[in-house]
Amino acid sequence: MNNLATLLAESAWAERDRIAVRQDDLTLTYAQLNDTSARIAALLQAKGVRPGDRVTLVMPNVIYFPVMYYGILHAGGVVVPLNPLLKAREIAFALRDSGSRIALAAPPFADEVAAAAAEAGAECLVMTSTAFGPLVQGTGPMPQIVDRAEDDTAVILYTSGTTGTPKGAELTHRNLMTNAATAAETLLNVGPDDVLFGGLPLFHAFGQTCALNTAVIAGASLTLLPRFEPAKALEIMHRDRVTVFLGVPTMYTALLHAGIPDDHDLSQLNLAVSGGASLPVEILHRVEEEFSLTVLEGYGLSETSPVAAFNPPDRPRKAGSIGLPIRGVELTLLADDGTPVSPGEVGEIAIRGENVMKGYWNRPDATAEAIRDGWLHSGDLARVDEDGYYFIVDRKKDLIIRGGYNVYPREIEEVLYEHPAVAEAAVVGVPHEIHGEEVAAVVTLRDGAQATPDQIGEYVKQRVAAYKYPRIVTFTDGLPKGATGKILKREIVVKP
Ligand code: AMP
Repeated sequence: MNNLATLLAESAWAERDRIAVRQDDLTLTYAQLNDTSARIAALLQAKGVRPGDRVTLVMPNVIYFPVMYYGILHAGGVVVPLNPLLKAREIAFALRDSGSRIALAAPPFADEVAAAAAEAGAECLVMTSTAFGPLVQGTGPMPQIVDRAEDDTAVILYTSGTTGTPKGAELTHRNLMTNAATAAETLLNVGPDDVLFGGLPLFHAFGQTCALNTAVIAGASLTLLPRFEPAKALEIMHRDRVTVFLGVPTMYTALLHAGIPDDHDLSQLNLAVSGGASLPVEILHRVEEEFSLTVLEGYGLSETSPVAAFNPPDRPRKAGSIGLPIRGVELTLLADDGTPVSPGEVGEIAIRGENVMKGYWNRPDATAEAIRDGWLHSGDLARVDEDGYYFIVDRKKDLIIRGGYNVYPREIEEVLYEHPAVAEAAVVGVPHEIHGEEVAAVVTLRDGAQATPDQIGEYVKQRVAAYKYPRIVTFTDGLPKGATGKILKREIVVKP
């Protein structure tokens, strides 16, 4: 039976000596990626990892990531990938919530992971180049791939979904395999000769499915960039003759800002894919012109593995649209009462299909709220045109997307409320030229309390990942409230 690990084995059979992943001077062929993952599986099994056990993976886009990812799957485990920028207390939450007994880390982020593991009673294994070399060349045991059913959970992705608290979206082998197969066969149309750009974080659904798993299914090469930096990205595209670029809108603005150096040859690059947040039409046109290629925008969520809609490559793309539902997926627009809206009206996108998660890990209530009558409610508002193309107009849910990273206001508000001087707080997104949105906090102080906006910002900075804390903190005498006392975020005006 097929699962994500057997797909790698198939590519290792068909494309043995082709480079599967590259990070600058480090490369792994398909055979090496497959064999090294098997040795990691042996190591995990020796540590007691059994089928269905969760193993947390906290790494940037380094060459160890794919090895660990497939190694966990090879052993029949469930991968719990986390953003390496998270602080110890955030990692400890995920370790405890997922019940992971092992956390896999890599420098320079290993300290926070080790602290989190100690707090959560888990073991932290740190992958270093000295440990890795022998594993690649090694002669250690290479166990058989542990059999998993297609409906077994393969990955748990922590996301806040449409409500504020982080929870694990359980994605099955089938969810992830079908989404990557559709991406490889019908959306990106990639094969063994393609080189995919690996700058999207692999811990996130977009990079994991559309870059990593799509490359593996296609037997293509993936070239990794641990930290997105436009000049380095352009250099890699030139050096490795990248054919497909995948990015979030803020990466495109950064690339345009940097410009293509004269000595760079990007003639192999023929497709750019955008997702994760709305791509401004102006940016889309400028990228197509500057890079002489087509930009195709898609849409999805962690809960949908992630791709749900995409501008199909065999039709002219519609600028500003997220495209049509992909193969095996249906979209509909619902009114507040749950009935479909009339043609031309705005409604909440609901998604049904083989990409929709099993549910939230150990959270039946949250699952029942998100998936109703078989439809996943996205929290995104859209309209559809006469050709069936969807256009996102707004977000129903409380979410800020800063530089491609999701920031859930409630999480930051919780930390603000922990500050002794804070009486009330609201976190909102304000438009930002480079990051798309910037995180802003509007705070009222307790009577008689003393604090400066900088002190409040610093307090949050100490406690959450660096991309999340509010760069803008303003004080107010009172926040706008509705009849039920709910803070009316839409009425809050913060100057960028
Ligand atoms: P995540 O679970 O991190 O993948 O975040 C999913 C959310 O990103 C969606 O619910 C949307 O709000 C947003 N999103 C993804 N793709 C797009 C897009 N093409 N246009 C606008 N918003 C998007």
